[in-house]
Amino acid sequence: MANKSSKVDLKTLSFSESVSHYFDKASKFTGAPQGLLDQIKTCNSIYKMNFPVKWGNEVKVVEAYRVQHSHHRMPTKGGIRYSTFVDQDEVMALAALMTYKCAIVDVPFGGAKGGINISPRQTPPEVLEAVTRRYTAELVKKNFIGPGIDVPAPDYGTGEREMAWILDTYMTLRPGDVDGYGCVTGKPVSQGGVHGRTEATGRGVVYALNEICSHAEDMKALGLTTGLEGKKVVIQGLGNVGYNTATIIREYGAIIIGICENDAAIHNEKGLDPVAVLKYRQETKGIAGYPGAKTIKKSAEGLELQCDILIPAALEKQITDLNANKIKARIIAEAANGPITPAAEEILLAKGIMIVPDIYVNAGGVTVSYFEWLKNLSHVRFGRMEKRFDEQNQRNLIKLVEEMTGKTVTSDKVKKIIHGADEIDLVNSGLEDTMIKSYNDIRQFKKANKGVKDLRTATFAVAINKIRDSYYAMGIFP
Ligand code: NAD
Repeated sequence: MANKSSKVDLKTLSFSESVSHYFDKASKFTGAPQGLLDQIKTCNSIYKMNFPVKWGNEVKVVEAYRVQHSHHRMPTKGGIRYSTFVDQDEVMALAALMTYKCAIVDVPFGGAKGGINISPRQTPPEVLEAVTRRYTAELVKKNFIGPGIDVPAPDYGTGEREMAWILDTYMTLRPGDVDGYGCVTGKPVSQGGVHGRTEATGRGVVYALNEICSHAEDMKALGLTTGLEGKKVVIQGLGNVGYNTATIIREYGAIIIGICENDAAIHNEKGLDPVAVLKYRQETKGIAGYPGAKTIKKSAEGLELQCDILIPAALEKQITDLNANKIKARIIAEAANGPITPAAEEILLAKGIMIVPDIYVNAGGVTVSYFEWLKNLSHVRFGRMEKRFDEQNQRNLIKLVEEMTGKTVTSDKVKKIIHGADEIDLVNSGLEDTMIKSYNDIRQFKKANKGVKDLRTATFAVAINKIRDSYYAMGIFP
């Protein structure tokens, strides 16, 4: 289990081995003893299941997983992925990333992940529902789900609908569990979800990039100006994360010049409107031929467009040693989990490209999932108790100012000033604060440790140190 990263061929690493490689690379910058590092790195529990599902007139066997990587904090937390690429190695890698991700953004959970080997696009909704409900029942049987045990969320190929099925199945099997709504996050708001969860990962990516681009010294080193305004952006994947990142980053003045999807990539230097591209995709089942843009038939070539920020938001292993040399972006923000292989990373770093690692930049989803879980346990909507009280206080203050100055504040201004926080305001504010604080923890660590050359190593080291401290606090490691 000792540090083997220098001996391995980076090109042959599996996804979970890649995560271990990053861990080993960073661990020498932490003050943790080897035994504790081994404990942090290992996967605690792996549950592989096979169950039958009725599909038309046939019965098919479905392969599924739930991996709990670390129990240093409970519950464990992580999304559920539906894809035909799902296997044990992938789910283990994603569960490990969740442990480090939660630590980075101070979300008090251990890491977990689930996966079902199924294509959501080619499976009828009634079969998807049966599979989701059976999967949940299997988790309940083995005590692998619950608000204090393990809390799933959406990931690739899943969303609010699947989370609502999970909740309903759990509540059916555990009637009377007063905190039962906290068994899963990413639920529809009408089913105990929180406002802002759907777009949280994309919004978090934008808050992170806005903070990163505000540091003049770092931007100068990359040959860029500060701020997101005018930055040219390419996005891979127009799903939950990619679409929301695209729409929100435009509000900051960035220009989406390229979008890559399964079927093709599209390019327009003047800018693409993701809302219109999504509408076109829904109508035509692809983005090829989108009017007003050049279509690039080989989708992966879209990643090679000249741009300031490249945002892979689809799947792992999209930038490898085979295409890394052709990447022309100055910053790559890993909105997806594991989109860059370790062999590619070495090439990109040598080219002076800044890589913002997945365990930080896409942590907005789990941050807002944490807020949802808190809402479920407190049984009250954020802002419900104080909104009117705060508004009345502001009104009194304005009245006092008017009396003292003899001037009247216009009704438009009064409306703006008194606005008490709604749930969405509080969620977004908590998310922005989290992304800013976490980035500055990482940046400070990198500055303070001269041997740390890249953001991923700094991020892993900060995460490992936080987990190390939880173990020390438990008194398990002297
Ligand atoms: P999604 O299923 O909503 O969307 C993924 C999109 O990527 C789809 O539109 C799909 O067609 C496209 N795609 C797939 N392969 C592609 C390829 N080779 N080239 C171009 N496009 C391709 O999934 P999502 O929830 O947006 O997740 C995307 C990534 O973000 C995953 O790596 C996931 O683990 C990660 N992530 C998701 C969340 C979340 O809250 N959903 C949180 C953190 C990280």
